[in-house]
Amino acid sequence: MTSHEIRRHFLDFFRSKQHLIVPSASIVAKNDPTLMFNNSGMAQFKDFFLGNGTPPSKRVADTQKCLRVSGKHNDLEDVGFDTYHHTMFEMLGNWSFGDYFKKEAIQWAWELLTEVYKLPKDRLYVSVFQGDERDNVPFDQEAFDLWKPIVGEDRIIYGNKKDNFWEMGDTGPCGPCSEIHVDLRSAEEVAEKPGKELVNADHPQVVEIWNLVFMQFNRKADSSLEPLPARHVDTGMGFERLCMAIQGKKSNYDTDVFSGTIHVIEELSGKPYGGTMAGAPDRSSDVAMRVIADHIRAVSFAIADGLVPSNAKAGYVIRRILRRAIRYGYSYLNLNEPFMTKLVPTLAMQFADVFPELNAQRDFVATVIREEEIAFLRTLGSGLGRLDQIIGQLTTDSKTEIPGETVFELNDTFGFPADLTALIAREKGLTIDEAGFQKSLQEQKTRSRKDATSSAGDWIELAETDQVEFVGYDQPEAYAHIVKYRKI
Ligand code: ATP
Ligand code: MG
Ligand code: MG
Ligand code: MG
Repeated sequence: MTSHEIRRHFLDFFRSKQHLIVPSASIVAKNDPTLMFNNSGMAQFKDFFLGNGTPPSKRVADTQKCLRVSGKHNDLEDVGFDTYHHTMFEMLGNWSFGDYFKKEAIQWAWELLTEVYKLPKDRLYVSVFQGDERDNVPFDQEAFDLWKPIVGEDRIIYGNKKDNFWEMGDTGPCGPCSEIHVDLRSAEEVAEKPGKELVNADHPQVVEIWNLVFMQFNRKADSSLEPLPARHVDTGMGFERLCMAIQGKKSNYDTDVFSGTIHVIEELSGKPYGGTMAGAPDRSSDVAMRVIADHIRAVSFAIADGLVPSNAKAGYVIRRILRRAIRYGYSYLNLNEPFMTKLVPTLAMQFADVFPELNAQRDFVATVIREEEIAFLRTLGSGLGRLDQIIGQLTTDSKTEIPGETVFELNDTFGFPADLTALIAREKGLTIDEAGFQKSLQEQKTRSRKDATSSAGDWIELAETDQVEFVGYDQPEAYAHIVKYRKI
């Protein structure tokens, strides 16, 4: 089954169960001052769960572009090193707004996975919430009783509050989840160790694919729980992981979701993708290729949704992701000319009928990325040289931490975001003085009386968004005027 078919079957399946299929919301969170990027399928429906507004239908399904690079959900550091966390990914989801509840959600999830996608039943595990006395939340007996006749008791895992209880915030709607995990290891490996023991243990082939959230409580300000008058279902399934499972691959990057882009990276770099994991000797180029194949999606879709790279807030997050990818290409694949921009057409074609906004803006997106690359490549080489020098000195002095002022200097002079310096430092077994960097940054900000860059939690108030910088897609030439590069 191709990834296109897998996506289509999901939507067709829920359409056949009377769900209205809606488009993905923008990857850049709009009209929600508490969120920078959409990081789950439910974000665009948050108001309905809070009782504000009326959903277009009591049953809805879609595929949502998600970005997990800030706030509570930040997977950036895992990307490339593992093979199943992305910055940008698609979350397939189905929702019930006060309509069906656990019984249907569980039955349909199982039916879709085992009858439509034909995933082997003996490779699936499900978790139910075990309860938490301290927090006054009960064991999810109802979900357990529903799963037991379907999967048998020995395939049920009891999950803790972290993995199996969902809360919108300190107060508000919340409830237990049931997650579905798949074991993709070889028969020999399975015989050696049961998959059940590897669930939620960061094993690259025993991965969580689907989270079914059952909103049934309201958490009050005194932290007590009361039943919600209307109970809701909110599910999210990682599309790329699902493709890995169905296509019988060992990594998301081996599926047809990524293979087109990886192929172009192989051609541009003249190196083959070996598919090895991080830490394997001489395969940093594989990590680099995964990072690049991942980051180009995050950056392209964000720009197509109206967010250009900039020096503040959400725009800076995108710039940092792009610079991270550029440096991986430069250091490990000898790519010292703009290359990210060349990946845009492949991506745009691939998603033309799923997320047409990218194909419609492909020239603009490619131009923005090229401009960014040109600017950063101008200073990257000398910045890396300077960093080498600093690291050499630290080693001589038997020190392991790059001072805050130096991190600041690299940022200010060479455009190295602090997290990029931290990443390079980590590769050499060093750390950075983050607090010292923030101090230097603050001093500069006070000097120049500029707005502070704020980093946002998932549902934390932001002063304002970056939207004012977006000038529209049909005038790429205007881009030069909206992105200001620091003079060096
Ligand atoms: P994990 O434990 O693997 O980090 P999660 O519990 O944080 O996943 P949820 O918030 O439950 O994820 O999101 C629902 C589904 O989205 C997950 O079951 C998974 O399939 C998928 N997913 C979550 N994070 C990512 C990511 N960074 N990249 C790709 N898919 C993801
Ligand atoms: Mg996670
Ligand atoms: Mg999880
Ligand atoms: Mg989960």
